[in-house]
Amino acid sequence: MENKLDTGRVLVIDDEQVLRDGAERILIRMNFQVFKASRGDEGLKILEKEPVSIVLLDMKMPGMDGMEVLKRIKEMERGILVIVITGFATVETAIEAMKRGAYDFIPKPYEPDQLRIVVNRAREKMQLQQETEKLEKERRRTLADLHTSQSRVYTIIESLPNGVLVTDTNGKVVLLNPAFRQHLGIARDMEPGGELASYIDDENLCKLIIDISRGKYVDFDDIPNYELNLAGGKFLLARARPVLGEKRECLGAVTNIMDVSAMKALDQLRSEFVAKVSHELRSPLSTIHEQLAMVLNDMAEGASENEQHIISRAKEKTKGLISSIGDLLDLSRIEAGIVSKESKPVQVGELLKSIVDFLGARATAKKQTLELEISGEPLPTIYADPMALESVYGNLITNATNYTQEGGEIKVIADKAGANLRVVVKDNGYGIDAKYMGKIFEKFYRVKNEKTRFITGTGLGLPIVKGIVDSLGGYIDVESETGKGTSFTVLLPIK
Ligand code: ATP
Ligand code: MG
Repeated sequence: MENKLDTGRVLVIDDEQVLRDGAERILIRMNFQVFKASRGDEGLKILEKEPVSIVLLDMKMPGMDGMEVLKRIKEMERGILVIVITGFATVETAIEAMKRGAYDFIPKPYEPDQLRIVVNRAREKMQLQQETEKLEKERRRTLADLHTSQSRVYTIIESLPNGVLVTDTNGKVVLLNPAFRQHLGIARDMEPGGELASYIDDENLCKLIIDISRGKYVDFDDIPNYELNLAGGKFLLARARPVLGEKRECLGAVTNIMDVSAMKALDQLRSEFVAKVSHELRSPLSTIHEQLAMVLNDMAEGASENEQHIISRAKEKTKGLISSIGDLLDLSRIEAGIVSKESKPVQVGELLKSIVDFLGARATAKKQTLELEISGEPLPTIYADPMALESVYGNLITNATNYTQEGGEIKVIADKAGANLRVVVKDNGYGIDAKYMGKIFEKFYRVKNEKTRFITGTGLGLPIVKGIVDSLGGYIDVESETGKGTSFTVLLPIK
């Protein structure tokens, strides 16, 4: 039977009616619900039905004696507190009863106060006991809950397709999931607890994770992603982030590893496809362009103005297409890493002068000023493919004239900055809204607004520029304010 007792119920087992009724009166005044029995077996029957918690038991009764009743009650294992009532002459009985598990005893005859005190004590003990049990039950339940939520998180981490690695502030490995082992080929019996370097065979990645684990990065946006290029064309992307405690103190790091091989392969296929198609399109388009030029020449006399206009528009459009295709081919070459094949020393000062000369006509047409400022001549030479460099500066200056209003000012400033050659292309034109800043280096991305809507372009200029600068180990940065102007800075290492 469940051990759920009611501290408010008392059973009095006594063969003397006067004593039973006397006890009942006292107990009722103490707010107990009272049951009475004149014999042992009768009392036991009541106990079977009622959740009684305290029994007042007379030791000396005809039939089943008190000691036997006590034994049976104890056998029930319900935690019932038994208070035995004994005569003066039977102290030994009281002691014996206590040995057998009675809670307390009252010698007969007793004063009402004596009964009250003993029963009250029993009641308090019972309440305390129930309170403890309740607390224990709650404790067990929260422990069980904790265990299930923990095991839930554990199961999730174990079954993730991404690799997960947790490190502490010393950069020691605390946890790693099966996907992490699989991605990096770590043996199954290799337990957490070791130095990072024994799990990851890439010095730079280890260094990055240890820096993050030690709380070196305050701004999470500054944390770079890391690409791992493994044997067999496998590419992994690692992203690590610090784990912060309640006071935002760094407790370690979580590193997430993703297999990006398929994405890479797809990207390469796409580039190859673009390169192939562009290549196939270029010669027929050039032919069409030449033929249109011939038609235009021949039709000079006799043709209506409208006809001439249509043909010359068609010729212009094909020229635009050819130039776009040229850009696409350039980009494919850059992406394939074959840009600086024909590297040679380049006098950037000379190169800039000729570009500015050439594009000056375009600026003059828009009544803009285009100035070149070189400080510290002669500028150091750069080792690169001159065509690629021309493409970098040419694209930036073309953009500056395109995205600046009539009468605007464009400045090209070149100097030496530490171990780099610095070229700044600065305009006071339309500017670029901060929210588009991250996108302008993406292929085909063009900012469209009221001012730039009518300017034609493909959105390939800046990706080409960035591709070349990256391949030369350089750096490009842009600062801009809408309505005020834009300034691109290109740094190229001097070798
Ligand atoms: P393409 O160069 O391929 O002919 P495009 O000039 O549109 O086309 P990008 O050179 O890649 O392409 O430039 C991308 C976008 O960045 C442009 O569409 C323009 O919105 C913005 N942009 C580039 N340079 C400037 C600048 N100096 N001032 C304002 N906006 C600029
Ligand atoms: Mg451009």
